[in-house]
Amino acid sequence: MNSNECIFCKIVAGEIPAACIYEDDAVFAFLDIGPVNKGHALIIPKMHYEKADQCPAPVLSSIGAQIGRIAKAVASASDCEGYNVLCNNGRVAGQVVDHLHFHIIPRFAGDGCLQGWPAKTYADGEMDEMLEAIQKNL
Ligand code: 5GP
Ligand code: ZN
Repeated sequence: MNSNECIFCKIVAGEIPAACIYEDDAVFAFLDIGPVNKGHALIIPKMHYEKADQCPAPVLSSIGAQIGRIAKAVASASDCEGYNVLCNNGRVAGQVVDHLHFHIIPRFAGDGCLQGWPAKTYADGEMDEMLEAIQKNL
């Protein structure tokens, strides 16, 4: 399954140039064209899946097998103090390109991005209800 309109499918096909870090049969990793910090990388499946829940487990495994080593290489090359591994799923979650991708973002103290999030609390019993609902859907 590939999408003719998808920019990341075009990158995988070599129709749009990209700074390729790594590729194998299932996985393609390249530098983000608009880096949050220099070295910001993207790891994608070669096949077109929109969101993580639509991607077959073996493909997710192939991606997962590369995340650590690519993150290590990005961290060493950028000399960052830490990094985020981030996957936006859906517009409301910040996904702009509808081809599953995992960001590896080098982080530096005071870089001003991804400054925490508004943590909420559960009322009495709500956490158990949510847990049960999630387990039912597994
Ligand atoms: P999203 O917001 O969907 O999680 O992130 C999409 C990312 O893809 C953005 O960080 C953006 O800079 C990157 N991107 C979009 N178009 C291109 C492109 O043509 N080439 C590369 N290398 N990155 C792209
Ligand atoms: Zn695609």
